[in-house]
Amino acid sequence: MTRPLRNYCEDCEWAASTETYSNRELSRLAIEHAVEHGHDIESEVPENRLL
Ligand SMILES: [Zn+2]
Repeated sequence: MTRPLRNYCEDCEWAASTETYSNRELSRLAIEHAVEHGHDIESEVPENRLL
């Protein structure tokens, strides 16, 4: 089982995860958001995910 990886912004409501995007797309989107808006992106692997 592969846990989804989630990226979210500390400065606004932006968030994306590998449930919606591929790993490559997710990192690209996160970098683009950080560059375009000057925001800080955090990533997490949700531990208590309800299945
Ligand atoms: Zn942001």
